[in-house]
Amino acid sequence: MTNAPHLPRHDWPRLEPGWVWLCGAGPGDPGLLTLHALNALRQADVIVYDALVEPAILDFADSAAERIYAGKRGGKPSAKQADISLRLVDLARAGRRVLRLKGGDPFVFGRGGEEAQVLVRHEIPIRIIPGISAGIGGLAYAGIPVTHRDVNQAVTFITGHDATGNAPGSLDWSALARGSQVLVIYMGMKHARHIAAELIAAGRPADDPVAIVTGATLRSQKVLETRLDRLADDIDASALEPPAIICIGRNVLMRQALDWQAWAAGQPPRNTDPL
Ligand code: SAH
Repeated sequence: MTNAPHLPRHDWPRLEPGWVWLCGAGPGDPGLLTLHALNALRQADVIVYDALVEPAILDFADSAAERIYAGKRGGKPSAKQADISLRLVDLARAGRRVLRLKGGDPFVFGRGGEEAQVLVRHEIPIRIIPGISAGIGGLAYAGIPVTHRDVNQAVTFITGHDATGNAPGSLDWSALARGSQVLVIYMGMKHARHIAAELIAAGRPADDPVAIVTGATLRSQKVLETRLDRLADDIDASALEPPAIICIGRNVLMRQALDWQAWAAGQPPRNTDPL
């Protein structure tokens, strides 16, 4: 076995042969795994994992478990998605204990719903294990509360590109600009210029606060604070690399008070009352 942490005593579900568990691995920090995820890692004899699953998390699995990489990065057409889903079907039919491990939450911009549907259509029994999504947990590690009573009564999660890799054409930007005080954008780096322009054209203030969080929850985490009209130029001028969460809204200001990682490193809060 491995150096994986022990599960507390509890009546944990068994991953039976022929089953597929679709599981979220959280945004990166292994401490953000759920206990169900750890239980799954302990029992799987094959793990099909995505690019955004932190390698340290795979170390919690049985060392004899087969590891299959199914990563796709960068908004390319998901030509291989059908292959991945059918691979899961084949593995289950071969009587394996299959863990399908995805970054964040499997049902948040992760195609987990599509994979689960294929499995159900092939009568493969499944279990879904939610995970901490980068758009919530990743912001928390940057000291940004995704909701704050004095800022927003709604939050909208947006994908920065559609299934073809283009900026999502079906989104009603003007409704988003006016209707949701906080916007959290996944996969938004590439089309940041387009997105910011659409939002400003739709009436969103040019000086709306924005944070870009890359490598959230990992040691490599970086955060850039800017404003909507400078978003794209600041990204271009920075060395920031995806994966990134972009958060637009006044909740970003709270980071001036709540950047707990900076504080732990000796920098006192910039402003304890930023709103
Ligand atoms: N299911 C995942 C999202 C998958 S889409 C979830 O719930 O988090 C992939 C996108 O998620 C990335 O392009 C990026 O926008 C975001 N993401 C995932 N992990 C991240 C991380 N550690 N830091 C910043 N963004 C992350």
